[in-house]
Amino acid sequence: MKSRERLRIAIQRSGRLSEPTLTLLERCGLSFRDGSDKLFCFGEDEPVDLLRVRDDDIPALIAQGVCDIGIVGRNVLEEFSCANENAACKLQILRPLGFGRCRLSFALPLENEYRDAAQLRGARIATAYPNLLRRWLNERRIDAQVITLTGSVEIAPKLGTADAVCDLVQTGATLAANHLREVETVLESEAVLAAPEELPSDGRGDLIDLLLRRLDDVNRVRGTRLLLLHAARGSVEAIARVLPGTPRLTVLQMDGAPDQVMLQALCASELGWRQLEAIRRAGARELFVLPVECALA
Ligand code: ATP
Ligand code: ZN
Repeated sequence: MKSRERLRIAIQRSGRLSEPTLTLLERCGLSFRDGSDKLFCFGEDEPVDLLRVRDDDIPALIAQGVCDIGIVGRNVLEEFSCANENAACKLQILRPLGFGRCRLSFALPLENEYRDAAQLRGARIATAYPNLLRRWLNERRIDAQVITLTGSVEIAPKLGTADAVCDLVQTGATLAANHLREVETVLESEAVLAAPEELPSDGRGDLIDLLLRRLDDVNRVRGTRLLLLHAARGSVEAIARVLPGTPRLTVLQMDGAPDQVMLQALCASELGWRQLEAIRRAGARELFVLPVECALA
């Protein structure tokens, strides 16, 4: 394959991962021309472009070198790796990304009791993840019949074509609507940054390093809030007591008002209304809560 100078990232074209992926890349300082519906998006800020495809195609595009890295569910990546165990190009996870969380789980019809996995012996199990499922069953020496379906896995038991399903679950609502009950987790999943085991040694490798550093700077403060407020110096202790966790505080003297301070606190979690009201009761005035976009170490 001809060497490229620009880094190319494969992302899901449209689906659950698309929007959080673009938001994350934007936070890392990457924006793209024609970002909304084109297959190929040209990066404007750095020499980094996007290929927007079906999520199932992402691992193969990386393995073939069409794209250098990709953002995809761990479930899709693992399925690809299980199906291509002997392939020359192995893939690795550079970073878990904290969104698109779900589980690949077994589910049974509500009326069926579940004791343990041994019960799946001889069962017909419908799934869109046949290779992952077979590996899990083999590791436990469970002989079952794996039925590969690409869509609507959850209706297979009702249709009588399967005894159990092995499918993605987030809240369990889809399972419940189909009279199924989640009984055992095969894989915990979230979106990950995937790459070949051997990273490019040219300028694209430097761009991957740059992206990883920025991802870490963004992730370090994910969910944190910067709290700014004015208060009388005598209230600082009372305010500190009602702040969540043990945030780092900075107290600044206000010009021309010796007993007034500005207090700055980095809180590791979001602040709810009740907490804000407690902070105000403790003496805070002019309270600002700001999301933190990144923090450079
Ligand atoms: P595509 O058209 O790209 O093939 P898709 O229908 O396979 O789309 P989505 O439903 O958008 O994919 O899911 C993409 C990924 O989102 C999944 O592979 C999984 O990692 C993650 N995900 C999170 N929660 C769920 C869920 N409840 N059901 C399915 N996938 C989920
Ligand atoms: Zn898909």
